[in-house]
Amino acid sequence: MIELNKPINFIQSIISSDLASGRVVEIVTRFPPEPNGYLHLGHAKSICLNFDLAAANGGRCNLRFDDTNPETESPDYVDAIIRDVQWLGYEWFGDVRYASDYFEQLFGWAQFLIRHEKAYVCELTSAQTREYRGTLTTGGRDSPYRYRPALESLELLDQMRSGQIDEGKMTLRARIDMQSPNINLRDPVLYRIKKYPHHRTGRVWSIYPSYDFAHGQEDALEGVTHSICTLEFAANRALYDWFIENLPVPSTPKQFEFGRLNVNYMVTSKRKLKKLVDDRIVDGWDDPRMPTLSGMRRRGVTARAIKNFCKSLAVAKTDGVVDIAQFEHFIRDDLNQHAKRGMCVIEPLKLSITNYSGDRVENLVIPCHPSRDDLGCRVVPFTASLWIERNDFSENQAFSRKKFKRLVLGDYVRLRGAYVVRADSVVRDANGMIVEIRASLVPGTVGKSPPDNIKPRGVIHWVSEQYSVDCCVNQYDRLFSHPLPESGAESFIKFINLNSLKVITGCKAEPELAKAQIGENFQFERIGYFCVDNRQKEDDDLVFNCTIGLRDTWSNTKQ
Ligand code: ATP
Ligand code: MG
Repeated sequence: MIELNKPINFIQSIISSDLASGRVVEIVTRFPPEPNGYLHLGHAKSICLNFDLAAANGGRCNLRFDDTNPETESPDYVDAIIRDVQWLGYEWFGDVRYASDYFEQLFGWAQFLIRHEKAYVCELTSAQTREYRGTLTTGGRDSPYRYRPALESLELLDQMRSGQIDEGKMTLRARIDMQSPNINLRDPVLYRIKKYPHHRTGRVWSIYPSYDFAHGQEDALEGVTHSICTLEFAANRALYDWFIENLPVPSTPKQFEFGRLNVNYMVTSKRKLKKLVDDRIVDGWDDPRMPTLSGMRRRGVTARAIKNFCKSLAVAKTDGVVDIAQFEHFIRDDLNQHAKRGMCVIEPLKLSITNYSGDRVENLVIPCHPSRDDLGCRVVPFTASLWIERNDFSENQAFSRKKFKRLVLGDYVRLRGAYVVRADSVVRDANGMIVEIRASLVPGTVGKSPPDNIKPRGVIHWVSEQYSVDCCVNQYDRLFSHPLPESGAESFIKFINLNSLKVITGCKAEPELAKAQIGENFQFERIGYFCVDNRQKEDDDLVFNCTIGLRDTWSNTKQ
């Protein structure tokens, strides 16, 4: 069990003192994804943080797409991100916002900087720009274009905008300090020429603002009071502050950085996840093995579990790696509380009850959850011919009762919610493989203890042969075989677990499970948590995705 102390959140402390001192009146945060991929678990931490901080302090949170890079962005990603934020259960303030809504304003501010001798059009190539920038230990050199007249820069910027200049020939740069120890302040690029249509503005623009030039000003335009981002932007803060000081912005956001969420056995980078999709290593962004929100949703992880996990994490000023077991704890904990129970036999073996009439059917009524009456009961038909798990039977009578709490030849076991039965004999095929167990039931043992001389070894699950529903089960293993697939010199692709998906056909589910809705969570008793996959093919068997096994898995007790 993981002890959950109240997590540290230094940003809440800052907000409290800002409200107390009157520095801000209303808290405004935002979640600012770039629509260049699907959201992953790391984003969930940022979403929870931004939305929850706003809500907890009576403020508001915007959803804003930082769509300044048309080559890598698409409206499909926008839609997927919106879906995922909604699925987590968050409501943003007002309309969805886009950096592209502010392109005209940002352009005006670029001209403003030129007019105030704080920006210039530079004609160094990108390689030269890099070389002139200097290094961490040496200062940079001024571009020969640094002091060109403002009017000339304004004219060139117009030509860049209208597509008259080729890509790579010119950039607009801020004129700050080529000797600054902070490389971000060495005349950063504000605009690049990109003759690429934008998914929202079409071909109107031939130049696009850099993320650095856009991000802070967007926050200022939206009145964001606390711009929360991850640690890698700490060194950019001085630049963002410079823009805010040097532009006539309507408000002054303050940036606070927190540590990214990293989870072992997972990769949380849209770029890398995109590679898995593009190289068809996985079956799309919503492959249930992906750490994307859509993948986890398809796998059966609930939004509640993700939020509970995120809220349990410290909001710290250092990066760290969280053990995947901690995430799994929250998944199980939530499903244990909310998932209905059902029985499904993964590897069926026939169990025939010889002292039960062949055409008799008893509709047993079994609760859907051991402790939640509100989830009701289901009807499970009991018949003479049943399926049980092949693994739940052994002929070896020497197996200890403590270790093998299942059916053994000549011994008793309870069928969950039904009778106590005894295995009397087995039937084999021509290869000697057991194809049937012949058993007898102890009358009067449904919901009642057997006579004192009968001690069932344990309880096993079962389904009626006649009434069972054929289904297919997808079982997943970790997508990466290494705990830190991104840490080494080698590509993370090297650590792909090629056996991360096992498709098991021919499983048999109790009839109630045929009514399961896409995404509905169940506990298959004694096996794990499952949900109906969202890609059901017509006329095919029902497909269930295994969300996660039970804590003390069945395979651990295998002999
Ligand atoms: P990726 O590397 O996966 O593309 P990103 O940071 O480039 O991530 P953005 O779309 O720019 O992705 O991120 C939107 C917000 O989510 C940003 O504020 C970013 O800091 C935050 N974020 C991204 N990844 C994580 C993470 N692993 N942990 C916490 N916050 C994250
Ligand atoms: Mg990014």
